[in-house]
This record gives sequence, C-alpha cells and structure tokens, in this order.
Amino acid sequence: MKYCCECGSRLRTPAGRDRLGRRRCEQCGAVFYASPRLGAACIARWDDEVLLVRRGADPGYGLWSLPGGFVEARETPGAGASRELLEEAGVGVEMERPYALFRVAAGHQFHVVYLARLCGTGFAPGPEALEVGLFGETNVPWQRLAFASTRESLRRYFADLRDGRFGFLFADIQPFASATDGSFEAA
Ligand SMILES: [Zn+2]
Repeated sequence: MKYCCECGSRLRTPAGRDRLGRRRCEQCGAVFYASPRLGAACIARWDDEVLLVRRGADPGYGLWSLPGGFVEARETPGAGASRELLEEAGVGVEMERPYALFRVAAGHQFHVVYLARLCGTGFAPGPEALEVGLFGETNVPWQRLAFASTRESLRRYFADLRDGRFGFLFADIQPFASATDGSFEAA
C-alpha cells in the first residue's frame, strides 16, 4: 500500500514500527495497520466422518479442504465458518467450539477451526466446489489436501477421536504451495 485511502497522499513507515508493517499518511495522519487476515473453517462431523470439499477455485483448485474461508467484517469467526460451509456444501451445522488456531506464514494469516455437527447429509457442491464428501481417517485424500491447516486439523482430530480427548491446538504452520496442474505434492 503506497497511498492513503482517506486523502490519496503518500504513506510512510513510522520510525521504529517497520517490523509491524504499519503505514502512516504524511498529510492527514491516518494509520493503516498491516493486520493479519482471519480464516475460519470447521470440522463438520457426521458419525466418525468429516465433510471435505474439493475446491473449484484457487488457491488449491482440485484439491480437498475443510469448508472455510476468510471471515467478513461484522461476522463472528463461527458465523463465518458456517456461512462458508453453506456456500460450499449447501448444508448447515451446529457449531460446537473452537478446536484449533493456526498462525500461518509468519503471522500474515490466522486460521481458526471449529468442531461442528452436521445437521444432515443432504449436501451438494456449491458454485465454488467440485465435490463434497464425508471421509473417515483411512479414506481422507491425505496427498491431495490444499492447506496445511486442514492436514493438521484432521491429523489431530482423528487422533483425538481415538483417545476420546479433545484439547485445543495452537500451531505455527507454513501454507502449502498448491498447484492447479496436478504437480502438487503434500509437504
Ligand atoms: Zn491521508
């Protein structure tokens, strides 16, 4: 970002604040924060299986992920996760609780993942999804997942399902470099 959204003047980096990435307008004094983006997803459960979506858009076209996306202004992360599920799979959930928080790519994004119960199995791919399905641990497409946060969430979830303990997970992760041409390999 080079110019002020308020007055159009040139922005500068305030002294001593470079590390945080914020910018200040020389003319009107407006400050623009380089805040991380928040993504929200859910582990939508039906018996011992979870719902995954095969993505019909980049990043990760053709790969599988938990239903989710970026949280919009004026919506809670839980509402964002259920909205994304409805858009991608046409089905509702009963949100249970936050289950994991990932700090992605050195803090440019955070992904929060909720545990949720599917309201039914009448799901179908929405406009930005190619397929939707329920998967148990053994048939998750582990080599065809779009995001590290999906992989870590599923790994932990199926381990917790075996142990019967569901703690809260926080992890620092790198996103996958996803590809649309089939050259993708899981990290
Ligand atoms: Zn300005």
